[in-house]
Amino acid sequence: MPDWSEQAPGVYARRYTELDLTVGLVVGTERCLIIDTRGSREQGDELAAAVRAVTSVPPVIVLTHAHFDHAFGAASLSAAFGDCPIWAHAGCRDALEEHAESDRREWMERYRAEKRHAAAADLAATPIAAPTRTFDRAALLDLGDRTVELVHPGPAHTGHDVIALAGDVVFAGDLVEHAPGGSFSEESFGPDTHLAAWPAALDRVLAHRPRVVVPGHGDPVDAAFVARAREDLHTLADLRAGVRAGTLTLAAAVDAAPLPPEVCRAALS
Ligand SMILES: [Zn+2]
Repeated sequence: MPDWSEQAPGVYARRYTELDLTVGLVVGTERCLIIDTRGSREQGDELAAAVRAVTSVPPVIVLTHAHFDHAFGAASLSAAFGDCPIWAHAGCRDALEEHAESDRREWMERYRAEKRHAAAADLAATPIAAPTRTFDRAALLDLGDRTVELVHPGPAHTGHDVIALAGDVVFAGDLVEHAPGGSFSEESFGPDTHLAAWPAALDRVLAHRPRVVVPGHGDPVDAAFVARAREDLHTLADLRAGVRAGTLTLAAAVDAAPLPPEVCRAALS
């Protein structure tokens, strides 16, 4: 099991082998904030125990977005901590309502294909917890001696992404991904991704002048990494516009793109 890494006093990141997911924890004198919940009942239980090992103050949860690997541990955490509040963008609640079951089916099939039957069974038995506190633009959470601001920076990885600002540490969810050898993976781009708007959302992350940015997957990065990722997305958005306008073939766009071919194909399709 991984350990918490302290990014600033009382501000932690925890990176898992499973899907290289990274979650966050901000500890105040009266409450703590758990940023993302992992992807199943058992994974949520493990995270609850890991939070308890750091602090005994009651938690508040925020979901950066509705994808299963970030949101499906919420019911376990909520149960472990006595129905603690679950914050998210209003669009996250809608997306969970519409897509949680298809997400579950898709990933159960993937696990079975990989002969990971225990993971499939865990996912099958995972209850989905809906967010209990939603917002559209921003929300301020009082943790006692500190506050954390939740901000929707505009559509990007999904239409309902949320970042959490804890001093000079920004938890960016899947707006930022630190994949081995690059900024993004095939999973970064899906049918709910807003590629053309994503660079502007990263401008809003950078406007907070973060010292540390905790991505949704991988180790924490600095502002320069995010600025490079922003340029890559900008290039991908331009290439996709060319493909859609018919001035560029998909093969030529993939050749010209700054990321590995399979990542580019996911972004450009
Ligand atoms: Zn995601």
